[in-house]
Amino acid sequence: MNQHALSNDPAAIISADKAHVWHHLVQHKPFETVDPRIMVEGKGLRVWDITGREHLDAVSGAVWTVNVGYGRKRIADAMAAQLTKLNFYAGAAGNIPAAQFAEMLTAKMPGLDRVYYANSGSEANEKAFKMVRQIAHKHHGGRKYKILYRERDYHGTTIANLSAGGQEERNAQYGPFTPGFIMVPHCLEYRRQDGLTDADYGRRAADAIEEVILREGPDTVGALCLEPITAGGGIITPPQGYWDRVQEICKKYDILLHIDEVVCGLGRTGTWFGYQHYGVQPDIVTMAKGVASGYAAISCCVTTNAVFEQFKDDTDHLSYFRDISTFGGCTAGPTAAIENMAIIEEEGLLDNSTTMGAHLLSNLHALMDKHAVIGDVRGQGLFAGAELVTNRGTKDPLNEKQVGAIVADCMGQGVIIGATNRSVPGFNNTLLFAPALIATKDDIDEITGAVDKALTRVLG
Ligand code: PLP
Repeated sequence: MNQHALSNDPAAIISADKAHVWHHLVQHKPFETVDPRIMVEGKGLRVWDITGREHLDAVSGAVWTVNVGYGRKRIADAMAAQLTKLNFYAGAAGNIPAAQFAEMLTAKMPGLDRVYYANSGSEANEKAFKMVRQIAHKHHGGRKYKILYRERDYHGTTIANLSAGGQEERNAQYGPFTPGFIMVPHCLEYRRQDGLTDADYGRRAADAIEEVILREGPDTVGALCLEPITAGGGIITPPQGYWDRVQEICKKYDILLHIDEVVCGLGRTGTWFGYQHYGVQPDIVTMAKGVASGYAAISCCVTTNAVFEQFKDDTDHLSYFRDISTFGGCTAGPTAAIENMAIIEEEGLLDNSTTMGAHLLSNLHALMDKHAVIGDVRGQGLFAGAELVTNRGTKDPLNEKQVGAIVADCMGQGVIIGATNRSVPGFNNTLLFAPALIATKDDIDEITGAVDKALTRVLG
């Protein structure tokens, strides 16, 4: 259809959407009677839908992406200038913004040197898995091919990523999966065994990884892939001592540490990367969402030179990384990423994430004093969760319907909050907050104020 023939009439757009768009992550049956929400415009933390309704977006575009907020003309202008000069060139050739952003990015990641560009978090993780497999073939006689992942972590949507996915509710019905991915236990302190001190629990949770390595055989394990803070799987912040022990274990058995920063990267938790809170030194870091705050599709798989050097051997025609993403050659991504990073720096958004994150946690703790249904509050920077339980003693999770009703009530008040996947008892039922890093104290108070009202209205 000629673009000029397209209608901007809201009813026509809704009807086109209902007839032709398959929305992500949602059951479509209700759309037979209820219209999908269609977003039209955004500025700062606010978005407006097609009915003209304003919302305060406490989840940065539903999936914790728009770190610098909506309506950043500076990013759009830089992209327009670059796209009219050179929009794309793929393969072995480079482009100017790709080189410039790689330099800026690695400057924030001491010890990491090489940036491999792709388009989504899933893809960046897939690159990392392929690197680990190729290193196993080239340097370990094919043996060190296993990749460990953790219960409750999520790394993406492809079959290989689901094979490394610790959320059973996401994996159900998509098997069979790719062999060679082995699960290690989660580290959710709230559900630890009684009798352990915090530090004991942290070490014990990491020791469980070593047990799996010993069971599988250390010479068969190539990498351990972890989120710094488990995001969609329950906002699981690591217990004390956990990461020190994880690093120790990886070094002991010569296992590459791959940290998935797709959610936590680019300031979400108050540091450039989540792992930087814990003094850990990864070999591979993947990132996506906040890299360009959703202004362009870009992801990166960043490695140490030690990883990169293992692919350099001109005597072996198979030794280079035989991988390409066509759209890794788009210049829009790194151009947007350069501006995005500059905004975070110039506007002090790491500090704002830290201070506003502390305010958010403090408000959530105050709600916990008032509402017995909040069993636990956890978070780091502007990434926080409140786990809902029917009984603080037994920690039985609040049911999915009621969690949904609380989220819907906030939506009715004009505040969009999230919840972790809700179908597995014991880890979910967690309200999720990830506003843009520009959030003010008033924004945070508005968000938690809506939750306060929603809890009272839905649960009495
Ligand atoms: N890794 C983590 C921790 C994520 O939360 C996600 C998506 O939510 C991904 C990877 C996959 O990213 P994408 O949806 O861009 O493929």
